[in-house]
Amino acid sequence: MNGSYELLEHHAANLEAVRRRITQACAAAGRAPDSVTLLAASKTFGADHVIALADAGQRSFGENYAQEAIAKLELCAERRPDLFGRSPGAGACGWHFIGPLQSNKTRAIATHFDWVHSVDREKLALRLSQQRPEELPALEICIQVNVSDEDSKSGCSPVEAVALALAVAPLPRLRLRGVMAIPAPADEPQAQRQAFAAVRTVFERCRSALAKEPGGHGAHFDTLSMGMSADLESAIAEGATIVRVGSALFGARPPAGQAVER
Ligand SMILES: *Cc1c(COP(=O)(O)O)cnc(C)c1O
Repeated sequence: MNGSYELLEHHAANLEAVRRRITQACAAAGRAPDSVTLLAASKTFGADHVIALADAGQRSFGENYAQEAIAKLELCAERRPDLFGRSPGAGACGWHFIGPLQSNKTRAIATHFDWVHSVDREKLALRLSQQRPEELPALEICIQVNVSDEDSKSGCSPVEAVALALAVAPLPRLRLRGVMAIPAPADEPQAQRQAFAAVRTVFERCRSALAKEPGGHGAHFDTLSMGMSADLESAIAEGATIVRVGSALFGARPPAGQAVER
């Protein structure tokens, strides 16, 4: 697939198929179809792919690696200011950071992104709040929770989540929106749903703790970011409001270590 028209056709067909899956999962769960936002997880896919998907109508993009992401979003802004322009009010698309957060990347992330889904320590939230540029609106934040208890994954433990939410909510340049999780992959829908239900329980615990606090910082706590290409139906059944989908939109990712496509 080299031509941009072929790319557009391919991505537009995938986008339609994923949107249909979301609509059907919402119907099965008795939920409104617009209660779920599709976030396109575009890691390893270059600006051509992102622009093709945006031309097909996709508006939110998620990235995992700061360096790769910033080069890409600057290229997108340069080539398509109508979709990706970064001056206030310009550009129809938004960028979400969904990868592991490192202290030395928080300034770049606070400057270039609209959302960060992967806050799992208070120290990182403090840095993002201090480093969010004045002229930009508050950075939208989700707390990442590790419900599968795997050592290798990022995320705070479910028991730490409420304390972290209460610490993050009052930070001035952030707006705490909800909880994100990447449960361990499971083949059976029942096992998938069990993990997503555990995330929802953490979300609800945080929401009721925030509602009891003075200051109204829980007013925007409405986001459950969970579900990917293989399990978005189960996530929607358990209340997901953002599903993060990569391979079902862009195709299989190149193996790790291979050059990023332009
Ligand atoms: C890559 C990625 C996704 C999308 O995964 P697919 O299985 O390709 O849909 C979602 N969330 C995060 C955090 C990711 O890194």
